[in-house]
Amino acid sequence: MNIVLMGLPGAGKGTQADRIVEKYGTPHISTGDMFRAAIQEGTELGVKAKSFMDQGALVPDEVTIGIVRERLSKSDCDNGFLLDGFPRTVPQAEALDRLLADMGRKIEHVINIQVEKEELIARLTGRRICKVCGTSYHLLFNPPQVEGVCDKDGGELYQRADDNPETVTNRLEVNMNQTAPLLAFYDSKEVLVNIDGQQDIKDVFKDLDAVLLESVQ
Ligand code: AMP
Repeated sequence: MNIVLMGLPGAGKGTQADRIVEKYGTPHISTGDMFRAAIQEGTELGVKAKSFMDQGALVPDEVTIGIVRERLSKSDCDNGFLLDGFPRTVPQAEALDRLLADMGRKIEHVINIQVEKEELIARLTGRRICKVCGTSYHLLFNPPQVEGVCDKDGGELYQRADDNPETVTNRLEVNMNQTAPLLAFYDSKEVLVNIDGQQDIKDVFKDLDAVLLESVQ
């Protein structure tokens, strides 16, 4: 399955991606996670990406397309991949099409998880992440047993630099403006499927899985 998972920040892409990986073992390729790992490791890519990410801006296309090209050429993607957070712009989508065409492949489905803006702001500003294992909590929807401490390993919880209210609003606006043409692009190619992301996590997965089952048959 060659799948792109779309949705504004906070729509639940990460949560649903985990479930897809668990069920199908498909490699989950998140450009946001790749940039965060590069920052953590202090690589040249990390230094380049950090200044854009801290402002809630997009990392330039040539940098982003380069890391995706490299990742998709790895053998674990031979039977499919789940892209999350990429493409975010029409030029990225066009670059992805060319890249896949070179490999004799194409996107089967673009799954868009839809959630209202106000709900996204509430979700994102309450998010806290474990410094040790990366588990995600939410102050309102999924709080840890002890404030500021991970239930799994006692690690300290932190707020992502780009999850503060100002950056969140900016990120959402940047994303909405950028993704509208992208959704139109995939809609015109008849690969876009919209899913209601304000349902229970398991119901979102049920809708999403119905689409995936179509592409593995
Ligand atoms: P995410 O975890 O997907 O919300 O991404 C966090 C940040 O990483 C974004 O706000 C961007 O700064 C950067 N980023 C992730 N994916 C992309 C992409 N496809 N194009 C440009 N920047 C990206």
